[in-house]
Amino acid sequence: MARLDERLDRVFDPKTAKVLTGGLDLHTVGDLLRHYPRRYERHGELTDLASLRDGEQVTVLAKIAAVTTRRMKSNGGKLTEVTVTDGHGTLTLAFFRQAWQERALRPGLHGLFAGQVSTYGRRRQLIHPDYELIGADAGAELAAEYVADLIPVYPATAKLASWKIAKAVRTVLDTLDVEDPLPADVRQRHGLRGLAAALHAIHRPLDEQDWKWARHRLKWDEAFVLQAALAQRRFYAAALPATERLPRGEGLLAAFDARLPFALTAGQLDAGATIAAELARDHPMHRLLQGEVGSGKTVIAIRAMLQVIDAGGQAALLAPTEVLAQQHYRSISDLLGPFSRAGQLDGAEIATRVTLLTGSQGAKPRRAALLDAASGAAGIVIGTHALLQEHVQFADLGLLVIDEQHRFGVEQRDALREKARDARPHVLVMTATPIPRTVAMTVYGDLDTSTLTELPAGREAIATHVVPALDKPRYLERTWERLREEVGQGRQAYVVCPRIGEETAAPGNAAQDPSSRTQRSPTAGDRDGAGDGGDSEDARDADDDGSPRRSPLAVLDIAPMLEQGPLAGLRLRILHGRMHPDEKDAAMRAFADGSADVLIATTVVEVGVDVPNATAMVVLDAERFGVSQLHQLRGRVGRGSEPGLCLLVTEAPEGSAARDRLDAVAATLDGFELSRLDLAQRREGDVLGASQAGRKKSLKLLTLLADEELIGQARQEATAVVDGDPILASYPALAAAIAAMLDDEQAEFLEKA
Ligand code: ADP
Ligand code: MG
Repeated sequence: MARLDERLDRVFDPKTAKVLTGGLDLHTVGDLLRHYPRRYERHGELTDLASLRDGEQVTVLAKIAAVTTRRMKSNGGKLTEVTVTDGHGTLTLAFFRQAWQERALRPGLHGLFAGQVSTYGRRRQLIHPDYELIGADAGAELAAEYVADLIPVYPATAKLASWKIAKAVRTVLDTLDVEDPLPADVRQRHGLRGLAAALHAIHRPLDEQDWKWARHRLKWDEAFVLQAALAQRRFYAAALPATERLPRGEGLLAAFDARLPFALTAGQLDAGATIAAELARDHPMHRLLQGEVGSGKTVIAIRAMLQVIDAGGQAALLAPTEVLAQQHYRSISDLLGPFSRAGQLDGAEIATRVTLLTGSQGAKPRRAALLDAASGAAGIVIGTHALLQEHVQFADLGLLVIDEQHRFGVEQRDALREKARDARPHVLVMTATPIPRTVAMTVYGDLDTSTLTELPAGREAIATHVVPALDKPRYLERTWERLREEVGQGRQAYVVCPRIGEETAAPGNAAQDPSSRTQRSPTAGDRDGAGDGGDSEDARDADDDGSPRRSPLAVLDIAPMLEQGPLAGLRLRILHGRMHPDEKDAAMRAFADGSADVLIATTVVEVGVDVPNATAMVVLDAERFGVSQLHQLRGRVGRGSEPGLCLLVTEAPEGSAARDRLDAVAATLDGFELSRLDLAQRREGDVLGASQAGRKKSLKLLTLLADEELIGQARQEATAVVDGDPILASYPALAAAIAAMLDDEQAEFLEKA
């Protein structure tokens, strides 16, 4: 009997096992059975040959129309050409020096043919395809294999044709011995049939109905097992000891609140109260705070940090880039005023110290920062990835705040948690933009969630317009005029470009070949060295959606053009990730204190940069940016009391997908709606991120976009099961499925490391 965890080399002969493992990365019977058919061909209905693309590895069901063998002029060998048809078009199968093929491949027979599509002259062909003939003439045994109406077609490789996979699957299905990870009552409540029946039905369906219910049931497995694993993670994490950080009536938090120049929104008060209560418990908080750009997440984080400091602990704030870390450092120091200057002449009596720790710091400030963290003198330590390094120590780390989390992985979160000595620190994660519910449940499923849905009152709306630079050049002129007008009224503006420029001048940075149109992330080199872990919101392929074919506009090219042209006389500064940290800091400072009018920058301004007097933003080559990224970018303007203006300049033609995307961004300010649109347009793997590669592998059928309801139900059921039986003592099959999934994720993680 074949069990799901049985290794394939114990079920198959060594050769078969080797191709299954080497070619398809399948190791166990469970892996093989979760290698699902990509589609089903219907007996008698032939594959549409017109749909084949050059270079593709294909399996087609077709009928043999003609067979000829002739002697090749070039080398005298024989060439056998088999013409197959779908009733409309044809495809040629070419066999060199295999004239014997003619005997088997007789006109009129149907067969499955597998190979790589190429073009010879004007004809599509497969050279030396693997094939299997179907039908009465093909022999009694083979005909019997295909009595069913539907023929599964598997994702195959050059070495292993689809029907060979089908045969291997059949072998294990016949002797399958499985226990169902879905508890019977859950199955019953949701009308789901058993696992064994589902595996049979998805691999050998009798009709369409069959594989459809099977797919639904197997999607449930994926969602339920993952959610049960996350529920367990939540359960165990919540059971760990943490130091309680009780709020104090008087202290830094009270002093901060008294200084705060605005009233907190209802949402901020609500999330703040939840967090305050969780910090006061002796088990660690693990909370995700998500919300609209500008909804005021940072204030909530500061208040949480102050509660912890008031109770004798320290807080660490992890930011994804140096620009952002520096900005947090400045703004938190400003907000706290004298309360951040402990030990200084003008420091308040109950003050603490705010310390910055980044990778590019000089040795001296760095040593001072390390000492402040280790001695406990610094109540708040702000930093980039440098905080994760082993020698960084805290006297009493009580709270870890991770800002703009989408750039950090779970492993990094764990690495930081280890820094608390006896008990685990409380953890607050903040996302940069709203994220769809399914992403929250899947990627951040081990965290509890608070959501800010409203913006602070008095915030003016941001008007967004698409500027078609090619068909309406006058609009572009007007764009720069508008920008001058804003500055004329004492306000400031951003110009954002997708690229830095002058790539050869930057050895050691990510190469940015300006001629490469297939490059997926022209901004990848723009991030600070200490910054991101390869996030995926960057610009897209140039040709998939009508973008211009020239290279993307660059800060270093645009700045002098604007300076000598439409923005002559204004005070311009540039900002990008390749600048020295001190220069970056100087540029940000100049912009923040108003001594620069226009900041010409890459997406380094995307996250969190906060200059309320900046009211206008021009995004050049806007189609190069993702939907959420544009939303995040425009969140930089309209942060004060003046209305914001965002102009998306593009050469993408009207009616192109790129243009539609920009129109959608212009049409709504609802970040949740845009996050769903973004999800629809990005590949699932991108959403899950590099650190989630293993998770992607275990989610084969489930899609975050389409399966929201199912994922929600599975989360509810799985949480109930785990709450009732945390170690899953009465659910051995579920426990085994979780272990297998975590093994996969772990293996993937180790491979990368
Ligand atoms: P985000 O959620 O994008 O991180 P921030 O925390 O940076 O937003 O807040 C955006 C701006 O709004 C900041 O300048 C902040 O000081 C201000 N702000 C936050 N909360 C309020 C409020 N309740 N009323 C008015 N302004 C606020
Ligand atoms: Mg922020």
